[in-house]
Amino acid sequence: MLAKESVKNFDEQLKKYADYVATQIAKTIEVAGGGRPSGYPQEHKAQNYVIEHMTPVADEVRTEEFKLHPKAFMGWVLIDGICMLITALLLIIYFFIAPIKGLVIVSLILTVISVACILGEFLFYKEFLDPLFPEREAKNVICTRKAKGETKRRIIFSGHVDSAWEWRYTYLGGGRLLTTIIAIGIVCLVVDLIIVILAACGLFTTWFLIIGRIFAIITIPAMILIIFFMNWSICVDGANDNLSGVFASMAVMQFLNDNDIRFENTEVVSISMSSEEAGLRGAKDFAKRHAKEFADSGVETICICTDTLRDFDDMGIYNKDMSGTVKLDAKTAGLVKEASHLAGLDLPYANVFFGSSDAAALAQGGMKACCLAAMDPTPARYYHTRLDTADNLDKRTIAAGVNTLLEAAFLFDEKGLDY
Ligand SMILES: [Zn+2]
Repeated sequence: MLAKESVKNFDEQLKKYADYVATQIAKTIEVAGGGRPSGYPQEHKAQNYVIEHMTPVADEVRTEEFKLHPKAFMGWVLIDGICMLITALLLIIYFFIAPIKGLVIVSLILTVISVACILGEFLFYKEFLDPLFPEREAKNVICTRKAKGETKRRIIFSGHVDSAWEWRYTYLGGGRLLTTIIAIGIVCLVVDLIIVILAACGLFTTWFLIIGRIFAIITIPAMILIIFFMNWSICVDGANDNLSGVFASMAVMQFLNDNDIRFENTEVVSISMSSEEAGLRGAKDFAKRHAKEFADSGVETICICTDTLRDFDDMGIYNKDMSGTVKLDAKTAGLVKEASHLAGLDLPYANVFFGSSDAAALAQGGMKACCLAAMDPTPARYYHTRLDTADNLDKRTIAAGVNTLLEAAFLFDEKGLDY
């Protein structure tokens, strides 16, 4: 059976669930008191609200607590900015005042630390800098609707409840300014690496001296910009990113409950995931706890993460993630594509080319996962800024997302991954 055949006036119902998602987003922001940094009291308040709200709807609502270092993930930006600023100052002394080799050696060490931070913490989402930052406790909220008979399949929907600290340049100048600043930062880092290696090797020609002097001077204002990249005084509301994903996932469970639909052999799980903005820590914890258990149980299990249902024209299914370095599960992504076709959308595959979704952490942890998202990749001005509020939602996109998730649930129940 298709989701659209499971009830009368399905289209009317979709509108109702888009309203439901929008209402719950506004309520959660109100209850939490605005932005929800990973592991902070505001995120706990939001998770407690989800528990309270879903307890009458799901068969079981449980939490899984874990520890994390919330500021480590984006803290690398500050560390890199400071390391590179010191490097530039040392190079100014080296190229303008006294070519002492020790200055170059210290610069090289600082540059290597900067490269390691960007690769380890940001590009590959390793817990590289975590011990340097304060620890907090966070929790995932897991809501389950059991199968009528024996459980042979399990479909997991998830969205992340936490929100990001503001990205200053997206707010000030939109995606173009953001990408320009990021590009300047990366170019400075690469050129710096080349210059300090050549200087350490003893190169000191006239041309090298000129280039080194120009580079050292340019790097100072560039690194001051990088140091102010994050606005740690504002945690954004995150209405689209990603309460839209949380409540689109919860809407599936709500729909099944409201219409008294219970699959014969498929268990449905909706998760309000914590700490995505802190480096996918909630999804990492979930995969660590359950990947083996799910694989050993013989219950065919797939995960569909939903992130930022906002920009209709950019809606797509991620089959690659983590800046293109992680392949998501092709069969699960294919199922969502087929579901989108059934929902009348026929969504394209897409790729997270800068950053990551929870699906990457689940896939790396050994689970079958993909991600449904509708986010302008430029990115849009609301992305990680104070403009991501409950009055900046797009119900058409939310309805399309819920429609796709519902069709995916029904399709998976009927055919598994042999669709
Ligand atoms: Zn985000």
